Amino acid sequence: MDSTPQLSSREKRINSLFPRYSDMDLTFLGTGSGVPSLRRGVSAICLRFQGDVWLFDCGESTQLQLQKSAIRPSKIRKIFITHLHGDHVFGIAGTLCQLGSSMTDLNYHDEVQPIDIYGPEGTRYLINSIIQLTQSKIVAPFRVHELIGIPNFSKERENTKPPYKYISSHCTYNELRDFKDISPTVDSENRYTYDICSTADLHIQAAPMHHSIPCVGYVVTEKARPGKLHIDKVQPIVNKNRELLQDVKGLRRNVDKIFSIIKNLNPDESYLFPDGTVIYGRDVVSPEIKGRKVVIMGDTCSGNSIVHIANGADVLVHEATNAWMRDGVVDDRYPSYNALKKDTVQHGHSTPQMAGEFAKRIGAKHLILTHFSQRYPGDDSEKSMEIMKIIENMAAESAGFRPNGDNVIAAWDFMNIGIDRLDDTS
Ligand SMILES: [Zn+2]
Ligand SMILES: [Zn+2]
Repeated sequence: MDSTPQLSSREKRINSLFPRYSDMDLTFLGTGSGVPSLRRGVSAICLRFQGDVWLFDCGESTQLQLQKSAIRPSKIRKIFITHLHGDHVFGIAGTLCQLGSSMTDLNYHDEVQPIDIYGPEGTRYLINSIIQLTQSKIVAPFRVHELIGIPNFSKERENTKPPYKYISSHCTYNELRDFKDISPTVDSENRYTYDICSTADLHIQAAPMHHSIPCVGYVVTEKARPGKLHIDKVQPIVNKNRELLQDVKGLRRNVDKIFSIIKNLNPDESYLFPDGTVIYGRDVVSPEIKGRKVVIMGDTCSGNSIVHIANGADVLVHEATNAWMRDGVVDDRYPSYNALKKDTVQHGHSTPQMAGEFAKRIGAKHLILTHFSQRYPGDDSEKSMEIMKIIENMAAESAGFRPNGDNVIAAWDFMNIGIDRLDDTS
């Protein structure tokens, strides 16, 4: 009997557009807004890179979605919170307990890496309150790094500053106090940038979003890799000079070290061989390989304040909460698209067209829409997929992409896309 799972047409489409296996991929655990429904969970996106998992937002029931997905919860190293609305944070405490309970199998001496959590001011208070009041001793070790002073762009709601008095000044269970809060740099054009953290390969930054409470979007940028050495061009010159190179300081013991010296030449730097041959970096080393860039926006009605770090995204994840459409036809509660847009913006959210405009503005190659109102079902029935296709086309038109093309995807729960470097396919 054939046990191969039948793929829906949308899964086949994704498999034809994105690599099945890549060292970087995104899994959408929840693609709805507000409260989870049977057809869409709420915000939680996993970025997997070389095995490690970073979780962006952690809405209610994320721990359940994790269990239904191919993500290994024990691989979660960091959690990034865009803002403190419930549909982005109600799952944090539960997920930390899920991670903690899976650690009970470890030996006492096993080294346990704490989960680093990044989020707006108030994130620490929120998590500590829940963990402490519920006496959740099973929680995984964690530490919270807060992003200080995220501007509140909302005029109507001034009173959103979180309280600073902790329930207790003592550590709660398993909370590590060696956190490092992060202040922004603000440039002469009043653009805020939070340098969140760096690993050997990735750098992550954040910038504010226009929403009804302080909110950020995150930008993950892979560091560029040095170009490849054209060994066929260098080898003959080295062979010719091998004997004389043995007299060069630093090469006496191992002449082959010359290859790494040449590989590290900048394009305009040169190396003079003992026989008088000069080679320039640009002639023997291919240009450096650009890293991938993934932008994961928080809820927003304008991405103005993140453009400076989001430009040139390979993948842009943008919310599209409301569309002027219900059940595949125009939403008759609004007389026009503009009336719906006005209402959506007032709530701090975006339409598919607004997401498309932003994708165009930053020159994004792919736009993934998410955070849909629960009135747009996320199942794979033909009717639901038709509705999401309409939403994709609304965004594609504004982005300047071909309608019914491949650049805009309306995400569904558990959708997984691999992200390859552009040069990896060559
Ligand atoms: Zn939300
Ligand atoms: Zn929100």
